[in-house]
Amino acid sequence: MNKLIFNFNSKDTKGIKYPKNVLGGKGANLSEMGRMGLPVPPGFTISTNVCELFFKNKKKLNSNIIQKIKAEIKVIEKNVKKKFGDLKNPLLLSVRSGARVSMPGMMDTILNLGLNDKTVKALSNKTLNGRFAKDSYRRFIQMYGNVVMGVESHLFEELIENYKLTKGVLLDTELDESDWDGLIGDFKNIVKDKTKKEFPQDVNDQLFGAISAVFLSWDSNRAKIYRKLNHIPSEWGTAVNVQSMVFGNMGNDCATGVVFTRNPSDGSNDIYGEYLINAQGEDVVAGTRTPQYITKKARTKAKAKNASMEESMPKTFEQLEKILKKLEKHYRDMQDVEFTVENNNLWILQTRSGKRTSKSAVKIAVDMVKEKLITKKDAILRIDPNSLDSLLHPTLDEKSKINVIAKGLPASPGAASGKVVFTSEEAERLNGMMQEAILVRIETSPEDIQGMHAAKGILTARGGMTSHAAVVARGMGRPCVSGSSEIDINYDKKIFKTAGTIVKEGDLITIDGSTGRIILGDVPTVKPEISGDFSKLMSWADKVRKLKVRTNSETPADTKIARDFGAEGIGLCRTEHMFFDEERILSVREMILSKTKEDRAKALEKLLPHQKRDFIEIFKIMSNLPVTVRLLDPPLHEFLPNSDKEISEIANIVGADIKEVRSRISELHEQNPMLGHRGCRLGISYPEIYEMQSRAIFESLVELKKRNIKAAIPEIMIPLVSTEAEIKIMKGLVQNIAKRVQDENKIKINFTVGTMIELPRAAIKARDIAKHAEFFSFGTNDLTQTTFGISRDDSGKFLNDYIDNKIFSIDPFISIDEGVKDLISIAVSEGKKQNKKIKLGICGEHGGDPKSISFCSKAGLNYVSCSPYRVPIARLASAQAELLNK
Ligand code: PEP
Ligand code: MG
Repeated sequence: MNKLIFNFNSKDTKGIKYPKNVLGGKGANLSEMGRMGLPVPPGFTISTNVCELFFKNKKKLNSNIIQKIKAEIKVIEKNVKKKFGDLKNPLLLSVRSGARVSMPGMMDTILNLGLNDKTVKALSNKTLNGRFAKDSYRRFIQMYGNVVMGVESHLFEELIENYKLTKGVLLDTELDESDWDGLIGDFKNIVKDKTKKEFPQDVNDQLFGAISAVFLSWDSNRAKIYRKLNHIPSEWGTAVNVQSMVFGNMGNDCATGVVFTRNPSDGSNDIYGEYLINAQGEDVVAGTRTPQYITKKARTKAKAKNASMEESMPKTFEQLEKILKKLEKHYRDMQDVEFTVENNNLWILQTRSGKRTSKSAVKIAVDMVKEKLITKKDAILRIDPNSLDSLLHPTLDEKSKINVIAKGLPASPGAASGKVVFTSEEAERLNGMMQEAILVRIETSPEDIQGMHAAKGILTARGGMTSHAAVVARGMGRPCVSGSSEIDINYDKKIFKTAGTIVKEGDLITIDGSTGRIILGDVPTVKPEISGDFSKLMSWADKVRKLKVRTNSETPADTKIARDFGAEGIGLCRTEHMFFDEERILSVREMILSKTKEDRAKALEKLLPHQKRDFIEIFKIMSNLPVTVRLLDPPLHEFLPNSDKEISEIANIVGADIKEVRSRISELHEQNPMLGHRGCRLGISYPEIYEMQSRAIFESLVELKKRNIKAAIPEIMIPLVSTEAEIKIMKGLVQNIAKRVQDENKIKINFTVGTMIELPRAAIKARDIAKHAEFFSFGTNDLTQTTFGISRDDSGKFLNDYIDNKIFSIDPFISIDEGVKDLISIAVSEGKKQNKKIKLGICGEHGGDPKSISFCSKAGLNYVSCSPYRVPIARLASAQAELLNK
């Protein structure tokens, strides 16, 4: 029988380490802290096994579990010498969800559970603090009413706001016991009105209602969306933590806060966090009161007036500092800790690995290696390769003129420009139209997750560095400026105002999440470089990895970027991309529309110098490194003119009338161009095209050699081969041209010829194809398309349905599918049977996907190739694959 309930203070957990999949992240860490002897309020964890039973039992807790929970409550009662529901000294509880990974889509916390019309009086008598007791009760009704009973939380807030207006006060803290008393009545009425049920007075009903609500929240739409975005399996389920309450809102010797053991924004080794005196946990993250800093250093730097915890509670701060050190040493990672101070006693409510920006993740990993807390191997494995993406994107060009209209907190770094939107739906709508949006909200809530994902950046008027917006944006790698009190948002009018500007929905703004600046209009950006800690981490990864990393690039500019990011050659130079230039496209069209071989040769003659010029540049940048040049691949009609203007322009050039051109265009039309006259099939029909391209490659090499410049080593790649005969003929063609160019110039040229494996037949018959190929490069875009028979251009329309119905766990165009993997493995083994030394690589989009890279490493490929900005990601992922696949 799987264990269902764990007490995290009792002796039975001593020495036993229960895993996160049973206890959830929060529960596992609470029990770990209990064992470390830290001050954790007594309580227990209801395991994820119970969640499974709950759903199996028609979403009900069975009587066996109810008995076990009641027994655990007794243990707490004994421990804290209070009684649940007691009319003298009542025990209050917190009930919190706790999945394996923290999930903002779920119910999080219910505090003060156990209060009712009677126990509230007992609490008041016991603490001699009526205001505190009443305030706690109204908070409980509000939280329970909302999360368990489904009453919208703004209805409670509006009651408070209206009451404050009539009383003529501004702050909640200005309300006294009798005010809260009245509001408690109003709150209960709202609950009754909206749910047709009384607010539960039985403390056991409250407890089991709350526990059930946590389990039910696992099944909520928001949680499902979050799981989908983050690839979290629905089978995991959540645990529930029930814990004795400690109070941060009992007076001025009480406080509550959130603290990171290091700075989550820049990674510096300084405690960083926020706290509030006389408050409960949700006040810090909700953004309704502006929190104060924990350390004096942070407060001084921010020029904030209110005392830091270090200044106002020096003794407790010292104790907290010691605990943070202990936790970091124990977990060997930066921790995000929640604490409460009750009458000067410090309690730790939660610890977990802190979410951090990519920049700080790299700095913290490198620093911890220096501090001998972790090894280089740990550091390499600790960084999510995909998270490096945000370090590889441009930042604001500080030299450009900018119009800063307001400032906020630098909550998640990077710069983003886009149109202002005020709702998540609008952000998603613009994203669907390939437009960039900045989501502007007073504060964000878990309902905004999809909109935050769709937006390029997030701006909020309220909330600190640990607010929902800040935490989620950092996790997603979206730039975010939070808590900008300088902006005043009006949702109804769809505007926000700053001191001197009114910004409307649809206006363009830029936010700089590294400095907190909000800027009117678009701002130029500068490209990032790999230096400092990032470059150190990369150098460690390079020492470990065996896979080479190349780039997919066809312009000198991209090639240069990729080289600077550490690319060790080009794995795919798509020559057709070189044809789209305004000047060249005319010659391409002329070539396609030519009626005779001679006319085509003339048009190709015009293209030759252009191709040569590009090759020379690229071969120079990739000096001494391999460059795979793929001969023309896509169907010719992709280059054809569409508009009347373009058609008449080309008719003029080729000396034909418009009608003739139109009829040639319709001749070239194909029903299934992706399966049509493309790839080497073009080379078979029009060998002169591949001859011109081969000549351009060889003549560039000759020219560089004559200028004494060390060139790249070209690997000429024949696309879309499926038979031995195709590669044989095409290889012969390339070799002929090579011979001619060598003879004309009396210069020896080094090159190889190979093919893409992007059709299932090619994979299966790889042994035959390898007779004529010196390398295989897996074109997994087409290979995925043709393995499934799913169009890579149109599948977006139904892929979501496939993912929702768990037919695909992930889009197969993003991460290599198992069937495609099998085809690759067949091709590798068959190819090697023919040619042991055959060079193997991948150049489909999967070459930049960490999961696919792990497969490539196992499959024995020599290199992966990806877009320039993914090169560092692939370098790190290759090192991780090497370490994990051993
Ligand atoms: C492929 O098919 O995987 C490939 C890299 O080629 P393209 O995307 O140009 O078809
Ligand atoms: Mg292809």
